[in-house]
Amino acid sequence: MTANSMEKAHAAPRCGARRKYDGQPCQAPAMKNGRCYLHGGKSTGAPKGNKNGWKHGLRSAEAVAQRKRTTALLRKLRATLTQLTT
Ligand SMILES: [Zn+2]
Repeated sequence: MTANSMEKAHAAPRCGARRKYDGQPCQAPAMKNGRCYLHGGKSTGAPKGNKNGWKHGLRSAEAVAQRKRTTALLRKLRATLTQLTT
């Protein structure tokens, strides 16, 4: 192992999961999805269409997409309003 490879390891993205004892980010080396091996790094999430843990749908792909569209539209409207009033 070279010194450079250790530098690379230390520069790896860090896990952002909330630590139980102080509420700060976990900071362990993260995997592709931004979480470490303890916080679901390898997990790709529940299969599409899985309803076993369904509560109310606030985070469903459909609801998230709808909110995203609404936010984008609001942003545009505010920009237009600002243009018109200045
Ligand atoms: Zn973690």
